[in-house]
Amino acid sequence: MTHQLASNYEHSFAANIRNVYCIGRNYKLHALELGNEVPTKPMVFMKPSHSVVPIAERTSLALPLHQGAVHHEIEIVLYIGREVTAETTVDEAIEAIALGLDFTLRDVQDTLKAKGHPWLPAKGVPNSGPITNALAFEGAEQVSRTPFALLRNGEVVQQGTAADMIFDLQQLIQFVASNYGLRKGDVIFTGTPAGVGAVQAGDILELQWNSETVGSCVIEAAQ
Ligand code: ZN
Repeated sequence: MTHQLASNYEHSFAANIRNVYCIGRNYKLHALELGNEVPTKPMVFMKPSHSVVPIAERTSLALPLHQGAVHHEIEIVLYIGREVTAETTVDEAIEAIALGLDFTLRDVQDTLKAKGHPWLPAKGVPNSGPITNALAFEGAEQVSRTPFALLRNGEVVQQGTAADMIFDLQQLIQFVASNYGLRKGDVIFTGTPAGVGAVQAGDILELQWNSETVGSCVIEAAQ
């Protein structure tokens, strides 16, 4: 587990997270698979910090499967370690990274989209933002070269690298900082590559960074 940090560092973020920013449609193929246009500027939404829970090894995760399709979206998550100004570089801003899942109630979201309503009921339910242990951040260049993947019951369903992002890490932190503010304790879910799909009770999801499993969870139906 060469990417893992010391155990007293792991998970310390989850309890201290402030704002949870998420980027929608940041990978071209994912935008197209849902029939969306490719955006010309970052599309930002938020999840409640209460949606973020740590996952380690086969952590049970209860999700409201009775509300229609619940889709997995694997994403690189940035932990911001300082106040970001116009001069801050991405390498200065990021304290650590992790992999996370931006679980989405897709049927609920489709209804909300049709009505022009906010996405909170589709994106903000408890356990909808699980994150792995923090991984050492070795610079944006290194992140952009490192493949990540999601396996569902042993089969790769999503894979990508940050190099495939429409807006890169520097653009994302500058956009969020200048429009909404970005400080220590904030996190950014940076968008998901193509291959999103519904989960079922009993599914085992494995999150891999550079072909190494850094977290896994087992899906349960919430009451
Ligand atoms: Zn997402």
